[in-house]
Amino acid sequence: MPDAVRVTVWNEYRHELDNPVVAAVYPEGIHAAIAAFLREQPEITVRVATLDEPEHGLTEEVLDETDVLIWWGHRAHEDVDDAIAARVAARVHAGMGFIALHSAHYAKPFKRLMGTTCSLCWRDDGEKERLWTVRPAHPIAAGLPLHFELEKEEMYGEPFGIPEPDELIFISWFAGGEVFRSGATWQRSHGRVFYFRPGHETFPTYFDANVQRVILNAVRWARPTVNLPDGAPRADPLEP
Ligand code: ZN
Repeated sequence: MPDAVRVTVWNEYRHELDNPVVAAVYPEGIHAAIAAFLREQPEITVRVATLDEPEHGLTEEVLDETDVLIWWGHRAHEDVDDAIAARVAARVHAGMGFIALHSAHYAKPFKRLMGTTCSLCWRDDGEKERLWTVRPAHPIAAGLPLHFELEKEEMYGEPFGIPEPDELIFISWFAGGEVFRSGATWQRSHGRVFYFRPGHETFPTYFDANVQRVILNAVRWARPTVNLPDGAPRADPLEP
């Protein structure tokens, strides 16, 4: 059995509560849909957290028990407290894994970790997306075909305002003609970061078997190997 991993799935959880179209796709919330397929794996334990909980559900105690944090947010990025975003980023620097999904390209913790604009262009017409697996030997691509399709998705197009990825794993093509770097990794201090593009709230993307496989692989890949909180102490000499 793969090594145990504790996942926290964070969702802003606003669209599902006031948009009937979204509620029809994700009646329990996007976080619940993601948690459900991860919980099928015996080595993975999952908790969920949402924006409107105290401290957005991301207390120090919760993060103490989180190996990998998955983040979905869209219209309420500005409602995330700067101190909580800084807390999440500090945990990533210490070793926690961080997976940003879809519109989390503008999430405060992701932007803080990237240090760039994270901007892109978009078109919400529900068009076909074809993802190309450009790094098939990477653990996040394990078990994935060399290309797969989502019949209806929002388009995200280049230029994507990210720093040069350490590893580019998926590139998307859209029916309208655009392409996008839709699966990319970065090391940030001791932690691993993965961005994965699909997942607009009005489409059933997180029920797609290939999408689920990518997220599951990413959870396993992003597990911490160390926990080294940041600091710059004076060091005594080891030799007399
Ligand atoms: Zn979207």
